[in-house]
Amino acid sequence: MIQSDVDLQPYNTMTIAARAKHFCTATTLQEVREALRFARAQQLPILPLGGGSNIVLTGDFPGLALHLGMRGLEFEALDDGVRIRAAAGENWHQLVMRSVEQGYGGLENLALIPGNIGAAPIQNIGAYGVELKDAFEQLTAMEISSGELITFDAEACQFGYRDSIFKGPAKDRYLICEVVLKLSSTWAPRISYPALEQYFAQHGLARELLTPAKIANAVIDIRNSKLPNPVEIPNAGSFFKNPVVADDQYQTLKEAHPELVAFEAGEGWKLAAGWLIDQAGWKGFRNNGVGVHDRQALVLVNPGHRCGSEVVNLARDIASDVKRKFGVTLEPEPRFYP
Ligand SMILES: Cc1cc2nc3c(=O)[nH]c(=O)nc-3n(C[C@H](O)[C@H](O)[C@H](O)COP(=O)(O)OP(=O)(O)OC[C@H]3O[C@@H](n4cnc5c(N)ncnc54)[C@H](O)[C@@H]3O)c2cc1C
Repeated sequence: MIQSDVDLQPYNTMTIAARAKHFCTATTLQEVREALRFARAQQLPILPLGGGSNIVLTGDFPGLALHLGMRGLEFEALDDGVRIRAAAGENWHQLVMRSVEQGYGGLENLALIPGNIGAAPIQNIGAYGVELKDAFEQLTAMEISSGELITFDAEACQFGYRDSIFKGPAKDRYLICEVVLKLSSTWAPRISYPALEQYFAQHGLARELLTPAKIANAVIDIRNSKLPNPVEIPNAGSFFKNPVVADDQYQTLKEAHPELVAFEAGEGWKLAAGWLIDQAGWKGFRNNGVGVHDRQALVLVNPGHRCGSEVVNLARDIASDVKRKFGVTLEPEPRFYP
């Protein structure tokens, strides 16, 4: 079951060639436990892998890359909605489409986000004004040190913007094995996000006639028009989080750049990182096989299948240029390994 010296290029959407000292795909909880025992015995670090759409491999991984391939997707009808129980290895987009095909609303804005269920809670995936946490009920995770299964409800997950306990105090301590979502039968479209509003206005679709499936199709159209398909142009989605700044910094920036794109976020403002990168002149930039997507400056692309350090160097250059020009710090969204 456990292989040695394995190329991870097929397991990351950036298509970075890096090798794992050991690799295995686990399809049952028993296999996950056995893989953990193997790693523990040799004191190997673990790299949990789903679809590999939110990682950057900066070099060879000196431990066990553990691909979580457990399958299983159940819909349980309830009096007031539906409960969806999904194993870590199920594909996120397919789950969204299964739910909208059955007429359930709640996940449609999150259509076409790449990757698997197991990774979705890690950064509380979000798009077009909706986040995983809005439909989240609980998850089951295996503690890496003991192999024990532990349940986390939404509060325990400490979800935030592209954030959860699994990126903070519980980082590298658990493998998410199953996620349970609950969708309510009382549904209202959430289309206040500007790109969605524009889409429905342009297509002459009235709010009263919208269904979860129509919104999912709109989201798919919008995403396809802006974001590169990783199968054609290797990428890891948004490379930077949208930075949140205090009101005074926002006001100063807005005065200097009246067209600044920003959204209110609590007491501060979330700035569109893509706008900052675009204004700094990076959109469409290419150098030696790595670059910035020409339709969305937030996405770094790797059409030359270059190594992780080339991608990281480009990201550093962009972040320091944005810092110099706007005084704003950009933080990467994907996780770097090792
Ligand atoms: C084109 C494109 C568009 C994207 N758009 C969005 C978007 O709109 N919104 C958004 O939020 N994200 C977006 N992303 C990022 C990405 O799709 C999500 O972060 C997704 O949840 C990653 O899933 P994955 O299975 O590929 O995770 P991976 O890349 O395999 O893993 C991501 C992280 O989670 C860990 N991990 C994976 N599975 C588990 C598990 N079962 N247990 C514990 N840890 C685990 C990994 O070790 C790693 O640290 C986009 C990516 C791409 C390429």
